[in-house]
Amino acid sequence: MSAPASDSTPLSGGCNCGAVRFEVTVPLTGAIACWCRRCQRRSGTGGGPNARTAPGSFRLLGDPAAVGAWDPGDGGWEKVFCNRCGSQICSRDPADRDRVSVRFGAFDEDPGIPVSAHQFTAYAAPWGQPPDDGVPRYPERAPA
Ligand SMILES: [Zn+2]
Ligand SMILES: [Zn+2]
Repeated sequence: MSAPASDSTPLSGGCNCGAVRFEVTVPLTGAIACWCRRCQRRSGTGGGPNARTAPGSFRLLGDPAAVGAWDPGDGGWEKVFCNRCGSQICSRDPADRDRVSVRFGAFDEDPGIPVSAHQFTAYAAPWGQPPDDGVPRYPERAPA
């Protein structure tokens, strides 16, 4: 869509207990905030921003045995988490695991890329609405 706001690659991040670490080796390609029920349940919050990585640029580090993943089984992206501390790390396309979106909160530092859309706003909770930030809102999935 637009050029990355900054290039502070490699970006690093990980879970609360430190068993799962990751790095992103080339600049992020975009970011959207998602307010779907699935994001609410997995995060325990109203929703939140996810950064799109360039295909093949995301690499899991740390202990492979600590990496858990849940495949919703309906074509939705697999949710990757630490199976020791429960931290959410990223989601990935079950059909092409090189396609990865990283939860902003999993990064060590500010990922430095603006959110360009709010998606699935029709499902936002009364207590967890998208911020009034002027960014376009889509009741269903944001256009790619
Ligand atoms: Zn952990
Ligand atoms: Zn979502």
